[in-house]
Amino acid sequence: MSSETSQLHIFFFPFMAHGHMIPAVDMAKLFASRGCKTTVILTPANAAFFTKAIERSRNLGSEIQILLLKFPVLDDKLPEGCENVHLLTTNEMVQKFFDATAMLEQPLEQLIKDHRPDCLIADSFFLWATEVAARFEIPRLVFHGFGFFALCASVCMLEHKPYKKVSSDSEHFVIPSLPHEIKLTRDQVPLYVKQESEAANFARKIFKSEETSYGVIVNSYYELEPDYADHYRRVLGRKAWHIGPMCLVNNDKEDKATRGPKSSIDEHECLNWLNSKKPNSVVYVSFGSIANFNDTQLMEIAMGLEASGKQFIWVVRKEKQQEGKEEGLLDGFEKRTEGKGLVIRGWAPQVLILEHGAIGGFVTHCGWNSILEGVCAGLPLVTWPVSGEQFYNEKYVTEILRIGVAVGAKKWARFVGDSVSREAVESAVNRIMDGEEAEEMRSRARALAKMARESFEEGGSSSSDLNALIEELKLRRSA
Ligand code: UDP
Repeated sequence: MSSETSQLHIFFFPFMAHGHMIPAVDMAKLFASRGCKTTVILTPANAAFFTKAIERSRNLGSEIQILLLKFPVLDDKLPEGCENVHLLTTNEMVQKFFDATAMLEQPLEQLIKDHRPDCLIADSFFLWATEVAARFEIPRLVFHGFGFFALCASVCMLEHKPYKKVSSDSEHFVIPSLPHEIKLTRDQVPLYVKQESEAANFARKIFKSEETSYGVIVNSYYELEPDYADHYRRVLGRKAWHIGPMCLVNNDKEDKATRGPKSSIDEHECLNWLNSKKPNSVVYVSFGSIANFNDTQLMEIAMGLEASGKQFIWVVRKEKQQEGKEEGLLDGFEKRTEGKGLVIRGWAPQVLILEHGAIGGFVTHCGWNSILEGVCAGLPLVTWPVSGEQFYNEKYVTEILRIGVAVGAKKWARFVGDSVSREAVESAVNRIMDGEEAEEMRSRARALAKMARESFEEGGSSSSDLNALIEELKLRRSA
């Protein structure tokens, strides 16, 4: 076999957060479906979330495996077993977590030495990964988990600092040099961008690493963000491949159900419940794996949902609620809405739920994976950004795609989010579920869902970009 045709071996090294690991495992499955050998590097506690999915892929003929890296122990300690961002509750813990992950450079180097992959696709948070790859003369590709719009907005914000030109936190400014006029307030700008701090330096280095690495893999499809896919490449000069939406690699129920942690509800029970509902009659409410609202906010959501009169599935993160309190907090609400609503405490089988015909809308914190999953299900969205790049994503959904309405969150705040009233929840939910505006948004979202599938299928833009990348990597190896 010539080296162009022999199998490529690719290492995937995601950051230890569900929103990073889930698409990384999808990406590994995707490359494996094209005949590559793929290895996902995970820490032991995180590997447990994916062993079933990976075993299943292997049984179906994919060459995919997990390799373990022990999560580093720090002297000033994170609690034992704290290997995933969803377990962090304070900014200090976040800092320690990053410090711990920085200690993975040498163990990663050892794994590469032992297994000699042809390419390393590593999370953007691992700044040092490019150098590790270079020591073995293999290319390092960056995976941020952002869409093109958020990538472009991030680069512009870090470069031009437009938030410095306004006199108050609530005054609007325009993000300069983008194809559309997009306005934000300083309150909505991520802390790691606007604060002159170590975190801001780190953020700057992350986006600089796009230029020093071999290129960037983007979980998006051209038709979703054409102006920004072009802007990112042509104006910002980045080398990028769009190969998404990668959630579409999971094409049967079992794949979708085993994507990430085990659901806290039996999938059949959940789907049976939805089967008893009319099309587009249930709103799905979830804020991803990190946002963690306080009791007051949970109560406002409950009251807003109840007042909307809509049927709902609401995912409430259980593990970080104060001991025993949450049960009591929502008891009365759950009794009153019995049959009309389902509260899932913990982890929901999100993709299975979203694509059920009974779901008519999605209240989301605007994590990019959730947005892609909502788009693939053809749903209008209520946007409720909390932190990360979510305020950028909100703008894209509401102002450019016009498939969503903003609930009115005004302030970037890690974990806890801005407070939103029950009236705002009620009004936004009603706007995406009923009436002409909702129908228009739904129809635009459905058109995007169709384009997502076409793009992902053979001959589509994502499929072609993936093939081109694989060919390039093979050629490079044989050069
Ligand atoms: N997710 C899920 N069930 C849950 C919560 C989250 O399946 O109960 C999945 C969701 O489908 C998505 C990922 O976890 O793929 C969350 O990523 P996202 O970028 O939306 O948000 P993050 O958790 O990173 O804030």
